Parts: sequence; C-alpha cells; structure tokens
Amino acid sequence: MMGAIERLLVSSIIKNMKKTIAILGLALMMALPVSAATPFDGKIIALDAGHGNGETGAVGYCNGVEVIEADVNWAVRFELEKLLPVGTYHEVEQLSSRQDRVADAENAGSDVLISIHHNGSSNTGADYTQSFVTQKNDKIFASYIHPEIVSALVLRDAGIKNDGYGMTVYGSLPGVLTESYFVTNTDGACDFVDYQNGVTNTRVQKEAQAMYDGLLAYFTANTGGGGKGRNR
Ligand SMILES: [Zn+2]
Repeated sequence: MMGAIERLLVSSIIKNMKKTIAILGLALMMALPVSAATPFDGKIIALDAGHGNGETGAVGYCNGVEVIEADVNWAVRFELEKLLPVGTYHEVEQLSSRQDRVADAENAGSDVLISIHHNGSSNTGADYTQSFVTQKNDKIFASYIHPEIVSALVLRDAGIKNDGYGMTVYGSLPGVLTESYFVTNTDGACDFVDYQNGVTNTRVQKEAQAMYDGLLAYFTANTGGGGKGRNR
C-alpha cells in the first residue's frame, strides 16, 4: 500500500514526465526544417568568382599591402553563399577559359549566373559600380542585381553596359558580370584588409547582401518562369 506521501511523489513524477514530453515535443517541432516555400526553391545560382587558379585579376594596395582581385571575388562569393539557402548555388569551376566556365554553369543546370569581378585602374582615386551584360535576359536579370549593389555601396553608378567579357556572351542563361568597386582604389583596398581582419560591415558583406536581395527580388518576380529553369 502506498502512503499519502508516496502517492504525492508518484503523481509529481508523472506530472513532471508529462511536462518533459511536452517540452520535448515542442523542441522537436522547432528543430524540424521549415517547409515554407521560398523563391529560391528548385533554383540553382551559378556563382563565378572571377580569375583565381593562379590568375590575380586587378591588384591594389592599402598602405603597401597587396589586395588581389581574385581574393576579393572569392570573399564576396563566400559571404553570398552564407546567405543563400543550402543547395541553391553552384560554384563555377575556376577554369582559364570563360567559355568553359559558362559551360560548367550550364551543365550544373543553373538558372542564372553571377560572375563576380572587381575593377582596376592605374588611377587609385577611381571607384564606381558597373555591371556588364549581353543578351536581353541578362539585362532583365541585371536590372535586379545592379541597383542593389549601387545602393549598398553608394559609389558612382556607371550603369549596366553591353559587354559581358565572355561570361554573358556564351550560353543562354541569364547572367551578369559585376564590377562592384575598384580594388585599386585606396579606400576599396583598405576596406578589404579590414574584411580580412574580421570587420563585419565592409564592402564585401554589403555587396554579398545586395546580390542576395537582388536574387530574391528576381526569383520572386519570375516564379515559374525565366531562365532555362531546372524543372527536376
Ligand atoms: Zn576581373
């Protein structure tokens, strides 16, 4: 026979177990992936970090410290990938031929292509934002990406120019080649040194966020259509 104290104890244990189960259930619900549809569902964004693989691209200096365009391009891609949902991007192989890079993006079933570059000039004061396109579908895509970069970096807007340097010439997927700022500009170069030293609000993060915002707007406006699509 259980006494009053034992009964109280057992009832308290059961109550606590019920509470534990309820908490576990709640924790499980919260841990499950959110299945809400996003505009990125089923999309593949080809991300081309310009140059690399032994090719520097433009080279700038911050107080004698060398800043290499290929490193900046890579860093922007790295930051953008942190923002994009898992499985929605393809890293374009850093092949020496631009035609081969585009083929790599197309073979991966990409819906769009961003070729990330940064500009260079012998004038260390030069600094502006420019994008390059070729085809009509590039222009539409760029009209979502380019203005976001302009408003994020607040540099002079040199516009969207016709000439994709190969990256938007080959293939047919909507693409844009971005030259968001000049690595040869002293401010631009020093900003990248800041990034490498762990500063969290440099041009690199701002540019990546701008590209993310542009992609989100593009796919929101083009749901079910646009691009070659990856309907599998
Ligand atoms: Zn470049």
